[in-house]
Amino acid sequence: MKAFFALFSLTVAVIGQEKPNLIVIMTDDMGYADVGFNGCKDIPTPHIDSIASNGVRFTSGYVAYSVCGPSRAAFITGRYGQRFGFERNPQYRTQDENMGLPLDEDTIASALRKVGYYSGVIGKWHLGATKKHHPLKRGFQEFYGHLGGGHQYMPEMLNIEDSYAAKDEPQSYRTWILKDHKPVRPRKYLTDDFSDEAVSFIERNHNKPFFLFLSYNAPHTPLQAPQKYLDRFLNLKDKKRRTYAAMVSAVDDGVGRVLSSLKKNQINQNTLVFFLSDNGGPSTKNGSNNAPLRGNKGDAWEGGWRVPFAVQWPLGLPKGKEYDHPVVSLDIMATIAARAEAPISNDRPLDGVNLIPFLTGKKEGAPHQGIFLRKFDSGSTAVRSGNHKLVTYEKKDFTGLYDLHEDIGESKNIRDQSPEEISQLKMLWKNWNKSNIDPVFKGLIHTPAWQKKRNQATRKKTKTDHK
Ligand code: CA
Repeated sequence: MKAFFALFSLTVAVIGQEKPNLIVIMTDDMGYADVGFNGCKDIPTPHIDSIASNGVRFTSGYVAYSVCGPSRAAFITGRYGQRFGFERNPQYRTQDENMGLPLDEDTIASALRKVGYYSGVIGKWHLGATKKHHPLKRGFQEFYGHLGGGHQYMPEMLNIEDSYAAKDEPQSYRTWILKDHKPVRPRKYLTDDFSDEAVSFIERNHNKPFFLFLSYNAPHTPLQAPQKYLDRFLNLKDKKRRTYAAMVSAVDDGVGRVLSSLKKNQINQNTLVFFLSDNGGPSTKNGSNNAPLRGNKGDAWEGGWRVPFAVQWPLGLPKGKEYDHPVVSLDIMATIAARAEAPISNDRPLDGVNLIPFLTGKKEGAPHQGIFLRKFDSGSTAVRSGNHKLVTYEKKDFTGLYDLHEDIGESKNIRDQSPEEISQLKMLWKNWNKSNIDPVFKGLIHTPAWQKKRNQATRKKTKTDHK
């Protein structure tokens, strides 16, 4: 055993000089319980599960917000979105330069570029739809995807060639795909198309250090899947769950192809592959399942922001480890920046932590004193620290304290038993909130009533046309 560890350390020391590649596979609106490694029984996800079994499964893996846009802004900058006012889902506005990731924030791609990485994003962007917010302006060298928050999956549904001609959300779902700046018609079912592109990215770039952000918009609505995937779930009687399962299954196939391509090109050992969802499942909308967590996408309850989360890195991480201390998507940037020695600007400090020493056992204890949530519009907050979690809903004058180790489903409010714990957690949250600012743009919830009505009518029409 000793000899093995000596060999292991030696390998790390020798090959560790090379900068590892980074792949982040992010799904959209997937439930905590919808992967095999979190106990899913009705949707097999063997390839996604293999990331956990070849590496580390995070049992308390969080994102920094419980809806898409702000969660992604935080992940891509390694900083809580509240630091720079990104706290709402942006509206699709191709001219509003305020509506997106502030232009002076760095991204994982822009930081890694300074140390020789080549970066690409495939799939959903959702960090601003103006030309200035385009991924190629934010540190990436390749883009193949859509600028908005979701998309129609079938190529024949995409009838707006120019992404900048789409005027609202439903139209943005029907644009062609942008290959860098050029509109192209996807070749097949969008999830499969993105998987093809991911494999092509690896084939073309395996000789240099790279960062690939594979950002599937699946299994976000609209619920659409080709027959070949639906046929895998004839046993599922609930139509919504069946289509959702088919969509997740298509993603799992894609993950399998990405992992095979790493092996084929002999870069599997020195590539960090993270898998996570951008927020919890909106179970009534897409048929996802967050059990045993309480709540859904959008909530301060665990179901809103605790997600399926795993990482593999055969060269530097143990295999088949379960890690229970809370971690957050912000840690991805801190981890790769530390490993690749990428410079981080002093006036934009990262909120994440380099996880490697914690996962290898070099450092003990919890990476974070707290993981925080603030929802400006609903007046809700949360902080997770150790086994405890404090949730407040200002408008309802509600305070809840939960011991998540004993009560993962947040069913027993123990606030009356631990007033001291409550004041400590409140203090922790207040200290965190000191460096936050108010949101800098209005979001989807501010869409005027007349436009919401029009959007709804367009959605209905699109659905009928497709039947
Ligand atoms: Ca989402």
